[in-house]
Amino acid sequence: MRFPLALTVKIARHIIKHKVIKRTPKFAMVLQLEPLHTCNLTCTGCGRIREYSTSIKDMVPLEQCLAAAQDCDAPMVSICGGEPLIYPKIEELVAGLREQKRIIYICTNATFMRKKMRDYMATVFTPEMEPKLQQLVAEKLITEKEVEAIRTADAAAKAKVVIKPSKWMYWNVHVDGLEFTHDLIVEREGVFKECVAAIKMAKILGYQTATNTTVYKETDMQEVEDMFKFLSSLDVDGHTISPGYDYDAAKKDMVKRLGRDPKEFFLTRDMTRKKFAKIEAWGKAFTIFGTPVYQEFLAGKRELTCTAWAIPTYNVKGWKAPCYLMTDGHYPTYGEMLGTVKWETYGVVNGVARDSRCEHCMVHCGYDPSGALSNKPRDTWINMKYNFGAKPKPFPASADLEKRAFNGVTIGKGHLAEAKAAINPAAGARGGFTRKEEEHTHAPVATGGGCSTGDTSQRDDLLAKIKANGTVTTKAE
Ligand code: SF4
Ligand code: SF4
Repeated sequence: MRFPLALTVKIARHIIKHKVIKRTPKFAMVLQLEPLHTCNLTCTGCGRIREYSTSIKDMVPLEQCLAAAQDCDAPMVSICGGEPLIYPKIEELVAGLREQKRIIYICTNATFMRKKMRDYMATVFTPEMEPKLQQLVAEKLITEKEVEAIRTADAAAKAKVVIKPSKWMYWNVHVDGLEFTHDLIVEREGVFKECVAAIKMAKILGYQTATNTTVYKETDMQEVEDMFKFLSSLDVDGHTISPGYDYDAAKKDMVKRLGRDPKEFFLTRDMTRKKFAKIEAWGKAFTIFGTPVYQEFLAGKRELTCTAWAIPTYNVKGWKAPCYLMTDGHYPTYGEMLGTVKWETYGVVNGVARDSRCEHCMVHCGYDPSGALSNKPRDTWINMKYNFGAKPKPFPASADLEKRAFNGVTIGKGHLAEAKAAINPAAGARGGFTRKEEEHTHAPVATGGGCSTGDTSQRDDLLAKIKANGTVTTKAE
């Protein structure tokens, strides 16, 4: 099976309960839970750390997070942010959501994953674990010193609530390309390498892993295919991929006043369809999460109507409406949001945008549930066939694939310091690695899939400066 049977059955039951038995007009499929917006990275164009810059240090109390999950009763909860592993009660949050029997995705930039997995090992250590520990050491995923700390963990460390491997939980690692591109996007060298190390360690320890990727207007789709091959060779359990999309009033204004082509600023529907021309082939070759109906939509073979209410977002300000991307308001309860928002004024129907901001949007959080909830028998059939179909085999690992993946700092293409220095000479090379809190205070921007955004203007600038400096070349250009 492409997806674990128990999870597929749980989701199918939820759909049948609401669509067939209760005939609920609108209901939640996935809760995007943002317990905080703080992050240890400052990715180029990240919508979250900018849109919520004034509440960047606020957190949703644990009880409120759990109550939000009960409130909307989505079978799946995607814990995102910010970086959710910074949330002080993340372990308790995961445990609480499991008590509610939810399927959990922890959307992370992976930089704290190995630490969390060491915490887990300390609680379950027995001498029988030695071979596994030695394997982790041999693969340089853990140090001898860390192994010793696991062996000698005190009672307090052993009693900690930890994130345990479970078929109901996925580490969902943010990966936007191969090493050079990913490190460029997250503005820190070595993050791609850490993602790979964390995924390898998770697989050895029996965790389920997934990745999420945002496609930008300059994303090289051949590189994305190589990325899937590489991640598949690591036996990653599934991948989410979504076009980035950014609606920004300032850009719209520039179009209007300066007559500039919108294509210069963000992914249009046409551009998205071209980028995703191979999505159905990828759906066959790799374990792509997302329905085949949504894949047809991305490939430009059909239209869908936005169902943003099915993937609601809850954060420090409440239930964010109408969607993960746009903020027209926050509501205290999911029910109040459902009842108050004029859903019929959003989305694109038969090619006509009901709200101009929705015109080019094809994002996962607006349209993937539309695929899952389609009333057409043919759509139900292809979705079932996809879910119950054989899981694609891992792509064979090879030295060549590994070489293609580690095409950045590993081979000496450490570019960020030079790039940042080119943009801000006064900051010097150091400026590429350490950013100050006030740099979060950008004008609000809308966001794309995962915690990333479709806003590419800053990165365009960065790439142009790198090119002008002649420091490196990249496919992403
Ligand atoms: S995109 Fe995600 S990982 Fe990057 S700064 Fe934003 S919240 Fe952090
Ligand atoms: S079409 Fe996109 S931007 Fe518009 S409401 Fe739906 S998800 Fe949000």
